[in-house]
Amino acid sequence: PPEGSGLIVRDLAVSYGPVAALRGVSLEVPRGSIVTVLGGNGAGKSTLLRAVSGTLGFHRGGVTAGEVRFDGARLSGTAASSVVAAGVVQVPEGRRVFARMTVEENLRAGALGARDRRAAAESRDRVLTLFPVLAERARQRAGLLSGGEQQMLAIGRALMARPRMLLLDEPTLGLAPMMAARIAETVREINGQGTTVLLVEQNAAMALSLASHAYVLEVGEVVLSGPAGELAASDEVRRRYLGVE
Ligand code: ATP
Repeated sequence: PPEGSGLIVRDLAVSYGPVAALRGVSLEVPRGSIVTVLGGNGAGKSTLLRAVSGTLGFHRGGVTAGEVRFDGARLSGTAASSVVAAGVVQVPEGRRVFARMTVEENLRAGALGARDRRAAAESRDRVLTLFPVLAERARQRAGLLSGGEQQMLAIGRALMARPRMLLLDEPTLGLAPMMAARIAETVREINGQGTTVLLVEQNAAMALSLASHAYVLEVGEVVLSGPAGELAASDEVRRRYLGVE
């Protein structure tokens, strides 16, 4: 890919009032790749995604230093809507869907920014091909779907905005292994169709199997990074994140 394409986070610091959540975080997600950020509870993974998506303000947080760029354009300091317009879309943590709305309505909500109807219809077809179960449940309330189906809907809704880059916050959290594997497979497929992915995960084994490159975040700092295969083989990662003694 041409230089500077994809996501670049440089020396990023984020605070929630007096609480420093990220300190001097730098990472890159080259266009077309899947990159994962691993880390335990409170390491700052969600904060990183919020900083990229421009949603820190909703959590009373703010960027205090550094910057985020996507395909050369500066994202930090712009509104969440501008980040979406730039092609970067976040799938929120906890697979938040509009529970009282139908599957169909949820998808339509994701296309609100779409330029024209034809593009929206095309995206809808793509999402329903990717997740046939959503077509079967189109008229059901989203709140009645299983956890895995809700995750599919959350991803599908994000895809309706035709992102160039997807930010995924623990998409397999709380899912049964079979369903987690299906979600992982879908992430691979979406990436294969050309969407760049930043994946934040506690499920290190899954994330390392998907990603080309990985970063480990601990208490707001990157403590380790490298090709996913190398990290998966490192004693430190195996012990701390893969549960290997
Ligand atoms: P988890 O997997 O538990 O979500 P995480 O790696 O995503 O963890 P963050 O949620 O980004 O971690 O939290 C990083 C740090 O920032 C933690 O110390 C957390 O307590 C703090 N934090 C997060 N959100 C807020 C907030 N809205 N106000 C104050 N502190 C916050």
